[in-house]
Amino acid sequence: MRTGRTRAQLLVPVIAIIALASILMAACASPALRGHRSIRVSGPEPTVAPTPAVPTPTPSPTRRPTPKPSPTKPRPKPTTSTRQPAPPAPKPGIEVWLVAPGGSDQVGSGDKEFIRYRVEVEQATGLNAATVATMVDATLGNTERGWTRGGWRFQRTTDADAGMVVRVATPATVDKICGAAGVNTGGVVSCRTGKLVMINLTRWNVGIPTYAADVNSYRRLVINHEVGHRLGFGHKTCQQTGLPEAPVMMTQYYGLNGCEPNVWPYRPDGTFVN
Ligand SMILES: [Zn+2]
Repeated sequence: MRTGRTRAQLLVPVIAIIALASILMAACASPALRGHRSIRVSGPEPTVAPTPAVPTPTPSPTRRPTPKPSPTKPRPKPTTSTRQPAPPAPKPGIEVWLVAPGGSDQVGSGDKEFIRYRVEVEQATGLNAATVATMVDATLGNTERGWTRGGWRFQRTTDADAGMVVRVATPATVDKICGAAGVNTGGVVSCRTGKLVMINLTRWNVGIPTYAADVNSYRRLVINHEVGHRLGFGHKTCQQTGLPEAPVMMTQYYGLNGCEPNVWPYRPDGTFVN
């Protein structure tokens, strides 16, 4: 009996050791106990821990490309959207037309076309429509040297159905309207398209070098020149008619080519300086 008891007593610790060993092994394999690994076992952990640590840098490169395209994409979007609303916010008064009030008596008594005209200024020019109309009236109303000398008749009106509209506009608007008719005014010159006479604001204000000392003379010239187009005249060159004066239908903006300055279609004696 003693001998059996001793054997049994010896078996108990052996079984206990085996049981503890199996418990420890089961604990290492259980994922629920991973948190205890670093504390209990230091050997096997580094092997497992660096493995998940390696995939960690993997998501970081994934993060890098992801944030890169995202900030790049929204950048052009706001810039594009910023540029788009910018153009529709031009100076106030662009293509807003102020009509010169009132009218004039009929001038001329010839048998050629009777043209009723309206005078307008683009609001953005800051010009006074009535002041511009005074210059247009005086130029077309010059019965000694103006177009009336050739038989045309004029009268200013405010009517919407006027046969001619003389406008002073910003260079950009002149370019836009003239360009739509296929005429390149380049921001510096004027044009006539249909019944519209489009006078460049810069030219109206400062003229051209030939008439720099007398901008009103240039204003008479540009009115006579563009109205001449409305009457059916094309461009002329210097001394095409043998006269020393530059024809009013010459593009004097580009130089006189030796001709003398002249802003009227007729000499005082009635000779046509064409
Ligand atoms: Zn011309």
